[in-house]
Amino acid sequence: MLSDEQLARNFADIAPPLTSDAALLEANQCLYCHDAPCTIACPTHIDVPAFIKKIATGNLRGSARVILDANPFGHSCARACPVEVLCEGACVLNDRDEQPIKIALLQRHATDYVLERKLKLFTPGAATGKRVAIVGAGPAGLACARDLRRQGHAVTVFESKTQPGGLNTYGIAEYKLKADIALAEVQDILDLGVELKTGVTVESIDRLLAEYDAVFVGVGLGSTKKLGIPGEDLPGVIDALTFIEHLKTHPYRETPVGRHVVVVGAGNTAIDAVTQAKRLGAATATIVYRRGEAEMPCYHYEYELAKRDGCGFRFNAAPLRVLGNGAAAGLEVRTAIGAETIACDMVIVAIGQGERTALAWPKDHPKVFVGGDCANGGAEIVNAAAEGVAAAKKIHERLTNG
Ligand SMILES: Cc1cc2nc3c(=O)[nH]c(=O)nc-3n(C[C@H](O)[C@H](O)[C@H](O)COP(=O)(O)OP(=O)(O)OC[C@H]3O[C@@H](n4cnc5c(N)ncnc54)[C@H](O)[C@@H]3O)c2cc1C
Ligand code: SF4
Repeated sequence: MLSDEQLARNFADIAPPLTSDAALLEANQCLYCHDAPCTIACPTHIDVPAFIKKIATGNLRGSARVILDANPFGHSCARACPVEVLCEGACVLNDRDEQPIKIALLQRHATDYVLERKLKLFTPGAATGKRVAIVGAGPAGLACARDLRRQGHAVTVFESKTQPGGLNTYGIAEYKLKADIALAEVQDILDLGVELKTGVTVESIDRLLAEYDAVFVGVGLGSTKKLGIPGEDLPGVIDALTFIEHLKTHPYRETPVGRHVVVVGAGNTAIDAVTQAKRLGAATATIVYRRGEAEMPCYHYEYELAKRDGCGFRFNAAPLRVLGNGAAAGLEVRTAIGAETIACDMVIVAIGQGERTALAWPKDHPKVFVGGDCANGGAEIVNAAAEGVAAAKKIHERLTNG
């Protein structure tokens, strides 16, 4: 077992914040492009050159306002967005073989400033008398809630879990985003006068439709898909979301981790699981993937991170069964040369989430709006936020124009 100090180091921010001097220096490298490709690449279209310019002139509050006006989840996106394939990937400096502007760290510099000082940047609009129900307090639902409150509509959010925030609170890798930041970001939105009912699972949209002027559904995806192989129910086999949620809601040393961990799957969630298993103290943590290296669905930089963390990779190995007498002791896989056994005492299943099937909603009802993972099949925080914002705009138009 690792010491508490080592565990804290292992889960410290992977991208530490910039100092004020470093932020100023970085902001002054920006070319403030017209039709900036970084802004175009961002699903919420944050005016990146505008917020960077405000950092350069020392106006951090104004900078944060530009960011959060476009993206209610600007705090979590600054920490967890895949910027390598979005804004920073689009920065013109890449074409000059230079490093792109550190947009995420600059965004964090500005948004941390207002979060730490609890500065309130937005106010609720004058009451319209209209009521909107939101199902799911993840980034999609709460982004929608925030913008509806700014327009003066009354908003009630229903959330199954005890805490709001969706996967921001329960799923994002601990070294990227911690639950206290996710919850502080949510609180900022709730402070606009959003009514939140936690511990409430909505089972039917019909009742909400009878009581509210519009309903937004942002329920995310369902649980991890099953492998469908013998031995899957043995102790020591766990799905990635349960493993990560436990880690994010308990002191680090309370999350059980095997000595030899195998993670089945090669998407971004599988990478999060394998790196966090390693950081918890597993002697070996290995990705097992049925296809080849080139077909891994995870982002390239996530793969690089797992390699840097010392994780192993077994490609072209299809799981056949979990072996063990009372607890997982190995994973039998089919390889090009036949069946092989990978010895392990923990198997983490990370082969994607299924749809959330418990709640049905009409696809073309004029009062029903949908966004986030449950609508796009599973993307990023920034997509959920963008879709929540877009839905709030549509709901506002419908409520004010009849
Ligand atoms: C392990 C993991 C790591 C990720 N890492 C990143 C990352 O680093 N960066 C990034 O940008 N994205 C990441 N993502 C993706 C990102 O978390 C999601 O795209 C985003 O959270 C989707 O937001 P959402 O609001 O649509 O859904 P969710 O965040 O899933 O929120 C949906 C909410 O609805 C609630 N709910 C569901 N059904 C009901 C019901 N019937 N009644 C009431 N409440 C209900 C749920 O409890 C949940 O709180 C990751 C995803 C996973 C699984
Ligand atoms: S593309 Fe790069 S240089 Fe141009 S505005 Fe965006 S961050 Fe600045």
